Amino acid sequence: MKITEVKLGILSVPLRVPFKTALRSVNSVEDIIVEIHTDTGQIGYGEAPPTGAVTGETQYSIIGAFKDHIIKTIVGRDVDDFENLMKDLNSCIVKNTSAKAACDMALWDLYGQLHKIPVHKLMGGSRKKIITDITISVNDPEEMARDAIDAVKRKYDTLKVKVGIDPSLDVKRLEAIRKAVGPDVRIRIDANQAWKPKEAVRILDSMQEKLLDIELVEQPVKAHDYEGLKYVTDHSIVPVLADESVFSPEDAMTILNMKAADLINIKLMKCGGLYNALKITSMAELCGVECMIGCMLEAKISVNAAVHLACAKQIITKIDLDGPVLCSEDPIEGGAVFDEKEVTVTDDFGLGIKSVKGIKYLDL
Ligand SMILES: [Mg+2]
Repeated sequence: MKITEVKLGILSVPLRVPFKTALRSVNSVEDIIVEIHTDTGQIGYGEAPPTGAVTGETQYSIIGAFKDHIIKTIVGRDVDDFENLMKDLNSCIVKNTSAKAACDMALWDLYGQLHKIPVHKLMGGSRKKIITDITISVNDPEEMARDAIDAVKRKYDTLKVKVGIDPSLDVKRLEAIRKAVGPDVRIRIDANQAWKPKEAVRILDSMQEKLLDIELVEQPVKAHDYEGLKYVTDHSIVPVLADESVFSPEDAMTILNMKAADLINIKLMKCGGLYNALKITSMAELCGVECMIGCMLEAKISVNAAVHLACAKQIITKIDLDGPVLCSEDPIEGGAVFDEKEVTVTDDFGLGIKSVKGIKYLDL
């Protein structure tokens, strides 16, 4: 199976409601779609969301990474030369992790199709179904409590609550939500780097004193502040999950060596795809550190790839793959089935994406 052509396009999917975090506010998913065509007629699909606030990548930078580096690295190559393809993809340009992730998943898709096996099984997996949380955007406490009640009515049992805009309100936000949903719903919070280390410990202490029962806190401090992250991990009773602090497998190794976090959040768009994500899961497994699998604002093509990984690796115990359910429509046929919190992987070969409606193809 030889790679003959790479096509890029843009897919726009409106969100049900605007998505707001301490870093940004967004109304629709506007992702780059990658199709890798082959001489057998089979197509591998990938997707990259331009998440400038987190990865530094834009639509233009993702397109540029493909045009100037990735396409010339892979066209004409044999899909079965998989490990060399992965190594060359990762070395043809530094950073640009979302562009690499989109190419990586399209190659896994083709490799699975070539060998007639679903990617989750190729990775040795045995799970078929995972349960995701859903994100509550940061707003006034009352509005967040209403959104939380809506989510619980939709049968979600775990809420991921965004905090960090005006930290003085964060305890009030959580009080309003806990009061609205009762004691049985799991609440995890994501500060998206908004707090200082001591401030984080103080806010978390005060949340637990008020019996808000926070399951974990995601990225309380700045991404580069590993010492600050470790300070929060050492001083707070709420488990700390590193998100923006861990992009690459090398970052994961540093965090694990320092014991700077209790958990690691893996996102394909941060680490550059499944090939690197597997390195992080292996290290985390050795260290006994559980992982979350997360996503950016993504449609189903790339989240589906993350579902395959999650179904394959038991060290991934927490699932934050709500991208597709935040979208108001699903233009993608095939791939995992998203039924609110329940996400079920399919046994189609590769990653199982059949077609995508509404791609605006780009002239390269
Ligand atoms: Mg996060």
